[in-house]
Order: sequence, then structure tokens, then C-alpha cells
Amino acid sequence: MPDSLQKNDKTFLEEVERRSGQHMVECYQCGNCTAGCPFNFAYDLPVSKIMRLVQLGQREAVLSCHSIWLCASCQTCTARCPNNIDVAKIVDVLRHMAREAGYATERNVKAFGDSFLASVKKHGRLHELGVAVGYEMRTGRFLTDIDLAPTMIGKGKLSIRPHHLHGADKVAGIFNRFNEGNHD
Ligand code: SF4
Ligand code: SF4
Repeated sequence: MPDSLQKNDKTFLEEVERRSGQHMVECYQCGNCTAGCPFNFAYDLPVSKIMRLVQLGQREAVLSCHSIWLCASCQTCTARCPNNIDVAKIVDVLRHMAREAGYATERNVKAFGDSFLASVKKHGRLHELGVAVGYEMRTGRFLTDIDLAPTMIGKGKLSIRPHHLHGADKVAGIFNRFNEGNHD
């Protein structure tokens, strides 16, 4: 928990519940989600504490934590919850809300996500080399892992040119509809 709790912002719990479709008040803090989380060792807030802080309306403490960016969406927490709460989906929603509020406590994770999405929007599917270049441009980590490139290209794991995808314009349409405002 943070050192001191802020005033309970009830709109925070309502918004997270609405956007995730989960009934978070059913969480009774058994800790199963935290016990199974493979990234708990790196988290600043264990996932069960994130659940509790959302219940308590601690918007800033939750949206500014590192854990939501380090989550691998492995779904273990969801599978272990005795109350059938989709905990992984809640973490995903929190990451969206953090982006919208201007928080990106793990900037390299955000940079990778942005590069991934930009590639899919442009080509209709992933172009790995484009993602790698985009990530390096966004983070300034030029030449990171560059030594792996010849091996990957040799094994056909990294194509120089993006593959053409029939219907790429329809994928771009999905992004456009999202940008028009339906973020939930
Ligand atoms: S989905 Fe995220 S929070 Fe849940 S167990 Fe996996 S890494 Fe941990
Ligand atoms: S497993 Fe479910 S009920 Fe238990 S602490 Fe996690 S979210 Fe709450």
C-alpha cells in the first residue's frame, strides 16, 4: 500500500468496473492472484493490492504504478481467482487508463507497444524489423541487440520488407474507428 491513502475517488472504481465488465467489489483479498503472478518479484504493487487500491478509489497510486506496465497478460491471476474475476483484463484496462492520464512509468514498454501498433496499422500485420527500428527510434537505444540481426535474417525470422496483406485497409479502419472515440 502507499504510505498514505488519498481521498476515496469512487468514480475510479466505477470506471474500472464499467470498462472491464468485472465486479471488483467481490475481491476479498485472498491473495491467490499475487501468489501465482510470475512477475510479482518485479512489481512495486502486487496485483492483489492493486485490486484493493482500486476498491479504495486510489486513482493516482494505481495509475502511476510500474506493475501494470510489467504485466505479461499471462492470465494466471484470472485462472486462480476463486471469484471468477478477470484480473488480467482489469490490469489491461488500467494500462489504457494510465496512458490516457499521461502516465507511462515504464517508458520502454510503452515504446514497444506503440511501435507494435504502428506497424500493424501501417501494414495490416506485424513487420518485425519495422517494430525493432521503431522501438530503437523511440527509446534512443540504437544498435541494441543489433548483433542478433544477421542470425535472425539468415533463419528467415526477420524480413527486410513487410509482407503485403490483402485487406490491410480494413485493419487500418479498425484503428480509425478506435481513434474516433470508442476506447472502452
Ligand atoms: S496477467 Fe499479469 S498480473 Fe496476472 S498473473 Fe500474469 S503477469 Fe501477473
Ligand atoms: S484472486 Fe481474486 S479474490 Fe483473491 S485477491 Fe486476487 S482478485 Fe481478489
